[in-house]
Amino acid sequence: MDTFSEVAANNLPASEFSSCDRAMMQRCIELARQALGKTAPNPLVGSVIVKDGEIVGEGFHPGAGQPHAEVFALRSAGEQARGATLYVNLEPCNHYGRTPPCSEAVVASGVARVVVGMVDPNPLVAGGGIAKLRQAGIEVVVGVEEEVCQRLNEGFVHRILYQRPFGILKYAMTLDGKIATFTGHSTWVTGVAARQEVHQLRVACDAVIVGGNTVRRDNPHLTSHHTTAHNPLRVVMTKTLDLPKTARLWDIQEAPTLVLTQTGANVPFQTWLRDRQVEVVELDNLTPAAAMTYLYDRGCLSVLWECGGTLSAQAIADGSVQKILAFIAPKIVGGIGSPSPVGDLGLAEMTQALTLERVSWRSIGEDCLIEGYLPLEKS
Ligand SMILES: [Zn+2]
Repeated sequence: MDTFSEVAANNLPASEFSSCDRAMMQRCIELARQALGKTAPNPLVGSVIVKDGEIVGEGFHPGAGQPHAEVFALRSAGEQARGATLYVNLEPCNHYGRTPPCSEAVVASGVARVVVGMVDPNPLVAGGGIAKLRQAGIEVVVGVEEEVCQRLNEGFVHRILYQRPFGILKYAMTLDGKIATFTGHSTWVTGVAARQEVHQLRVACDAVIVGGNTVRRDNPHLTSHHTTAHNPLRVVMTKTLDLPKTARLWDIQEAPTLVLTQTGANVPFQTWLRDRQVEVVELDNLTPAAAMTYLYDRGCLSVLWECGGTLSAQAIADGSVQKILAFIAPKIVGGIGSPSPVGDLGLAEMTQALTLERVSWRSIGEDCLIEGYLPLEKS
């Protein structure tokens, strides 16, 4: 039996977790989210220490190179950690990385009980931290609010399991499936609330990708529109590098911009961009998958595709999209030539349609948001 199944075998069914344990795990998640978009390539982790029904310590992991959440929580609890319960949304680490393993710090603190949201997604180390705690005589409970914990770190989990960032395709369309009118006019398909939701989504992502067409037609900002929040790396994928000098993305005061292009494309414009501190990287074969590999190497967890139909179809086809967020406005715009969110996928029969899994929907202002996951076969 491997370590992972040993751990799983000791899990209690979800219904047996107390409401206090679930509430404290929710608090861990709330703390973890304070570093949303800032921890790559590390996960989002929060930790709470409870003694005699009172929270005596809290912490979260602020970003790579800094201490882990458990360390901050133990520091703030001090001597009160002895005999207490420590909550953490991800299994404490058990290896020497940039910091010593948290499992050792937890054992040394004298904590009596540890409640873990989810096991480490890396199959090579999964269960190691939990086993270490149990060996030290600490009671360990695993799987409290597990689904929420998995979702919080879905980018990190995908990165570990597939050596690729987690790709999210987001688009806004009318009820008749158009992302613009027949002239290409597209501001705005959805209302203010939906657009604010997109800004929040950008805060949570490490990079946002558009194609050259989107830059030429929409001249987007692609920022989170908050002065203090995290802005993702703005990425333009363009084979020709035939782009206007007036694009807003070349102003990097608010957020950095990276242009991914084909080797040797429009060299004078490359120089012009670099003079403005816009990063330009040439790839030999510029595809969505190649862009994702490059962004993986740069440490990205989650990448948001905000491109038009041509690029989104390519990204779906080569396995660069795992999740779809479709904002749907209750509007009809018509137009036989009006663009739709996903271009040619070469699917001739309705039976070939990509069917989303774990689908949910909610209303946002006057619009509707449908979320779901593509089947994993392409990844
Ligand atoms: Zn750790």
